[in-house]
Amino acid sequence: MKRWPSLFAERCPKCKTALEVSKSNALQGKVVKTCPNLHYQKEYHPALETYIEHDDIK
Ligand SMILES: [Zn+2]
Repeated sequence: MKRWPSLFAERCPKCKTALEVSKSNALQGKVVKTCPNLHYQKEYHPALETYIEHDDIK
């Protein structure tokens, strides 16, 4: 079961906390969304037009 309600704030799959957005690389337009509890991270790469997801953040 995997649903992504894209119109709402994206949430961590584990703790359901809304992801925090941090633009770590404004020049490339890359957007990083991270769980405040460090369960989950999602990066948007405009050049690739895709998201890269990470389940664990170290
Ligand atoms: Zn979390």
